[in-house]
Amino acid sequence: MSIDYDTLKKLQTVLADYFQIEDRIMEIPKDLKDKEEVLQKTKMDYLEQHNKCELIKRDVDAIWEKYVQTGAEREEKERQIENTTLSREFENLNREIEQDKKTEGALLKSYNAKKKYLEDLQVKLEVSSMMVDEQEGEVNEEKEKNEHLLAEQEALLEEKKKERDRLSKGIPDEILFKFERIIRSKGGTGVVPVHGIICQGCYMELPEQFANDVRRDEEVHFCPYCSRVLYYEESEEDERADERIHGDVSIEEEVSDGGEAFISSEENLFDD
Ligand SMILES: [Zn+2]
Repeated sequence: MSIDYDTLKKLQTVLADYFQIEDRIMEIPKDLKDKEEVLQKTKMDYLEQHNKCELIKRDVDAIWEKYVQTGAEREEKERQIENTTLSREFENLNREIEQDKKTEGALLKSYNAKKKYLEDLQVKLEVSSMMVDEQEGEVNEEKEKNEHLLAEQEALLEEKKKERDRLSKGIPDEILFKFERIIRSKGGTGVVPVHGIICQGCYMELPEQFANDVRRDEEVHFCPYCSRVLYYEESEEDERADERIHGDVSIEEEVSDGGEAFISSEENLFDD
């Protein structure tokens, strides 16, 4: 059966739009996905920093506790030394007091260094926390934007779908299926004219008999090279082909007369 090529061309435009909208819909969540991944990473960093802070804080507290305890013990020894009369006990206590003072000094130094480190970490943690909030805001904003965009594109798609259904009425499913596949793979062009014997989709020369079949238009033809639907269209190539045929006939006529056939045919061509 033959087909209305004007309808097919309209359908081609609708289908190309349809596929473009479909692609756009597929693209919509891409930015969101990227943003969600970034947020996920920031959250992980934040958690890692948070856990590290907790550990250091416990460390700092433990050092402080030890420092206070050592100080209390030293003060106790200082009280004892005032009441002692034995020189050996005095010497022992005095040595211990000196040792405690050294320990206290080292603990205090360690405490100050770790506390400073903790404070720096807490500043970084605060920054991370702000980044998480900011990125979470962006993700939510993107989600909202996507929902709006998706609704908009889906409405458009629905419109195109209706047009597609209207235009494809009467076209056999098998041809429709092939046609849709071609449009998807050939960048939106699924129906092209044949000029002479040349497919205007891929510019390949078609077999003469096949080109004639296309011209007769008794059934739907697909280009054997690019798979597009073909229809015949008058063109300069046809005029040239006619000239060729006309010329050939002249040659045959002249050949029978013998002699200057070639020259005569050329004259014939120029006379046209
Ligand atoms: Zn072709």
